[in-house]
Amino acid sequence: MRTPLITGNWKMNTTISEAAALAGELRLTLEPVSDVEKVVCPPFISLAAVKAELGGSSIKVGAQNLYFEDKGAYTGEVSALMLVSLCEYVIIGHSERRQYFGEDGKMVNRKLLAAQKAGLKPILCIGEKLAENEAGRTEEVLRTQIDEAFSGVDLNLLVIAYEPVWAIGTGRAASGRGANAAIGFIRHRVAGIDSQASRVLRILYGGSVTAANAAEFLSQPEIDGALVGGASLKAGEFAAIVRQAGEARR
Ligand code: PEP
Repeated sequence: MRTPLITGNWKMNTTISEAAALAGELRLTLEPVSDVEKVVCPPFISLAAVKAELGGSSIKVGAQNLYFEDKGAYTGEVSALMLVSLCEYVIIGHSERRQYFGEDGKMVNRKLLAAQKAGLKPILCIGEKLAENEAGRTEEVLRTQIDEAFSGVDLNLLVIAYEPVWAIGTGRAASGRGANAAIGFIRHRVAGIDSQASRVLRILYGGSVTAANAAEFLSQPEIDGALVGGASLKAGEFAAIVRQAGEARR
């Protein structure tokens, strides 16, 4: 049985004091929920404050990105070596990084390798765009993104988030059955590479998940949790999603 994982991606939201306050609220509401792994991913500058706020709690911290070099003349970038003392997880290849910052499959692969080398657990985001979905190309896109990302990556130390781009931040979530089918395809593809890893690998759904629709996803057999954007900025809503993840597995 795979432990459900609910991850909050705060994106470029919250000042340091707002991030610490949100973490404090989450600590109060989520600490008693023990059967779900909980991770929050604040902006880089708030990682230290959020880690301090959550110290000794069961809520883990993740980053939203990293650069694949260890150190050097890369103005504005943050490496895995810098992050590893601040967090446990890191989101890699989010569609906003691919869309606005030109990240391609090769770069995503280098970031995954850098994260794992440093001891961070990457959450790899993959998903098709609207036009690709409408053209019936979802599986082809997922296959390409998987193949580009995986070279040299330890599949036992990976989380995947299936995030259809058209569902992110749009309020237009996938259907539970549709997301389950896509995630089943991803697992099947992973099984073709490493069948043991495919059984333990957690694959999350992400894209307009809220407390109102979370159960539809979390009750699906292939879906091991959620990557939550907008709804993770409200402590009560995020906590409700986490609780539903626990209930879905009982
Ligand atoms: C995300 O940022 O990964 C995401 C899924 O955002 P939202 O939940 O707002 O669609």
